[in-house]
Amino acid sequence: MLSKTEAIVLKAIRYRETSKIVTLYTKKFGKLNVIAKGAMLTTSKFGASLEPMSYILAVLYKKETRELQFLSQADIIRPFLRLYSDHNKSAIGLSICEIVYKLIKFEEGNQRIFELLLNVLDKLNDAERNEINLLWYFIVHLLEEIGFKINFSRCALCGEKFTEENLPQRISFVVDKGGFLCSKCGVGVPEAKSYSIATFKSLLWIGRAKIENVTNLSNPGNINNEIKNLLFDYIKAHVEGTVELKLLEIYDKLK
Ligand SMILES: [Zn+2]
Repeated sequence: MLSKTEAIVLKAIRYRETSKIVTLYTKKFGKLNVIAKGAMLTTSKFGASLEPMSYILAVLYKKETRELQFLSQADIIRPFLRLYSDHNKSAIGLSICEIVYKLIKFEEGNQRIFELLLNVLDKLNDAERNEINLLWYFIVHLLEEIGFKINFSRCALCGEKFTEENLPQRISFVVDKGGFLCSKCGVGVPEAKSYSIATFKSLLWIGRAKIENVTNLSNPGNINNEIKNLLFDYIKAHVEGTVELKLLEIYDKLK
């Protein structure tokens, strides 16, 4: 069946002499592998449309019985040029693609994940400052979509609601429970890792902010480092294999 769908290119690898196998996150079908014949040729009709992070209109021949679909055409809908020219933005954008590639199963269509992915890449392209917040925003919302929402409102053990009064200076996060612990429960839980309350509050703010405002918050490097550790620990608990993200490059640069 011939299908047209919007898609974001997550990854492309060379296949045989002249072709590429491309992993797309499509609006209609979710994550798909497609083969783009002749894509390695300089005269290829695909041009630059199959670079990771490209936002394209894909035309594919889709058969239910086949794992690899055939890509017949791909046209860039809106180019995100700054994602390729700015080193920081590239690293963040590629990390986002890598997270989707590793966390999301094949062929489970979810239009909200598609919109989230597209919106974040679009805002990342335009961002003038604090673009790392878009990565945190993306991860928090993606985790929610796939059923691993982080609970910021109540203690993950006793259920007590967090208030300004009962928040400790350092707060423990338990990966298995996907949540934080109050000051009473936070004592003596060996698997819990503690984070500064500023990290907790920043991440909470980013998760609840509108995407348009998310880059307004400026965090010092140590807070971003803690947010990264917290989110990556949590992601790693839910993926098989290791997640080595391009993000590490950014942090070397920030230091
Ligand atoms: Zn508690």
